[in-house]
Amino acid sequence: MAHRELHYRWQYNLKASPEELWPFVSDTNRFNRDTGVPSVEPGKTRQRLRNARHRLRQSIYGMAVEWEEQPFEWIRPSRFGVTRTYSKGPMVELRALAELTPRAAGGTTLTYEVSLTPRSMFGALSVALQMKFVSARRFARAFKNYDDLVLQDIPPASTDSTVELSSAAIDRIDSIKLKLQTDAGETEIIDRLASFVQTADQFAITRIRPYQLADDWNVSRRAVLELCLKATRAGLLDLQWELLCPLCRGAQETGSSLREISSELHCETCRIDFKVNFDRFVELTFRPNPSLRPVEMQDFCMGSPQRTPHIVAQQLLAPQSKRVLSLPLEPGRYRLRALELSGGIDVSVTAADGINEAKVAIAESGWPQEPLKLATLSSLELENATATEQLLILERLAWSDQAATAAEVTALQTFRDLFSNEALRPGEQISVGTLTVLFTDLRNSTRLYREIGDATAFGRVMNHFDVLKKVITDEDGALVKTIGDAVMAIFRRPVGALKAMLAAQELLAAPPDGMPPLTLKAGIHEGPCIAVTLNDRLDYFGSTVNMAARLESLSTGDDVVISHAIYDDAEVCELMRAENLQAAPFEIMLKGFDEERFELWRVSKKTNCAADLRG
Ligand SMILES: [Zn+2]
Repeated sequence: MAHRELHYRWQYNLKASPEELWPFVSDTNRFNRDTGVPSVEPGKTRQRLRNARHRLRQSIYGMAVEWEEQPFEWIRPSRFGVTRTYSKGPMVELRALAELTPRAAGGTTLTYEVSLTPRSMFGALSVALQMKFVSARRFARAFKNYDDLVLQDIPPASTDSTVELSSAAIDRIDSIKLKLQTDAGETEIIDRLASFVQTADQFAITRIRPYQLADDWNVSRRAVLELCLKATRAGLLDLQWELLCPLCRGAQETGSSLREISSELHCETCRIDFKVNFDRFVELTFRPNPSLRPVEMQDFCMGSPQRTPHIVAQQLLAPQSKRVLSLPLEPGRYRLRALELSGGIDVSVTAADGINEAKVAIAESGWPQEPLKLATLSSLELENATATEQLLILERLAWSDQAATAAEVTALQTFRDLFSNEALRPGEQISVGTLTVLFTDLRNSTRLYREIGDATAFGRVMNHFDVLKKVITDEDGALVKTIGDAVMAIFRRPVGALKAMLAAQELLAAPPDGMPPLTLKAGIHEGPCIAVTLNDRLDYFGSTVNMAARLESLSTGDDVVISHAIYDDAEVCELMRAENLQAAPFEIMLKGFDEERFELWRVSKKTNCAADLRG
């Protein structure tokens, strides 16, 4: 017979705000590790558990413990809790609840409650001793530590004092570091990366996100991303492509090469099939090369709110039940959905005209039609009018901008240079979202060959590729391929392509050493593209690419021909104003495109006008 329930309650007064503490305190994976809880493993079950429940097990002092865990329930940044029902071990049930309440004078009152039902008298005794003499002290120390990290502005997971690398590994890291510093310069961030690899927390090291490091270090994101790519080639890091589920954003598959990526995937938790999109769902992360620092993947908690930080509230509602949530929300776009009921509703949060009391009921027939507009502090009544239990999820729609997406990385010259063999599996086509596509060609190159002779002209053409590659790289673009004298390049932003072309035309028109000037024709368009593998290289296809090629053919060489999409771009407008560029509109008919009439612009530098003004 089970013993009566034991109840423990601790209260801590912390200096940081609930908002600041939330990423640390609700990271129960970290908290369990920091408080000495053994790692967990999936339990043996063939049965599919409902609503993201987990069957888990662990070994405590050599004793096998196994349980079924309900999904965590939380409201960011005020509370979270979980219930476990045990099938093996000294307990029958455990409930944990953490509440973070802001104090009037600043700071947070953190209340942590644990309720336990021991299986027997002996279980009760061992649990009571553990709680009173071990856990209480560890909990207090962990929360105090998180409070200190927030106050010192130290990002989660920056250092772990328990990491000890062999002296051989440290020597090798040092020699790779020196080599990188000799080859690439950038002494300071190379130092930081090398020391991060040696000292960072086990959790952070399994998934190094270059943009996050750059933000933490307050340096350029591109510099850190390029450094991680070079460090991978130098043997310090390994790269991994993570394929993320569009709903829970968990990694559903990880590949060490794009070749391992398939475009159709399935998420078991969300029970959905989805198509991979480079723009969002494929993220490049890194980990140390295992010969330098072996990475042990250990889980201490599977359902932690910090595994899905974009979900601001998650609640499990029994059939035919209601619950009122008090929600502090940042302005922005959200979606309310249920894990096992299709559909959902859009929720927008505004400080200006959102309502502060609302009700949403879901029925067998689905969701209400009306979107919801909430205030930044509101009371939301959720009703589950269906006959089955529902896990309700309120999530932010914005994706983390700290992800280095495959679309961005593959459009980077450093990546294409260092990983020239990276290609997709043959036959695979993956959407890369919106790219800026540039085509160039030399005007009158036939005449050039005739006038200065084949050998000299060839040298000049080769040299012009170097000029193009440099200006393209300088503007965050990547050269995809050359076709005869022509070049195809891609950029993440239109303004980079335009700047690169204006610079290239100027350089080629006034070459050093009495070489003949070259006239460069250029066309730029922006739109959705598809990535494919062609001749073992990552290439791009689609009507955006075809259109950019057509625009180049319309260029006279004293201009860059741009489409409406480029002309309308805010940064391009700004550049035109700042550089006093001339944009002459013209219209053409193009067969084979959705529309037939196109409005285009010839962009050029107003050199004459500027000279007149100065004169
Ligand atoms: Zn999922």
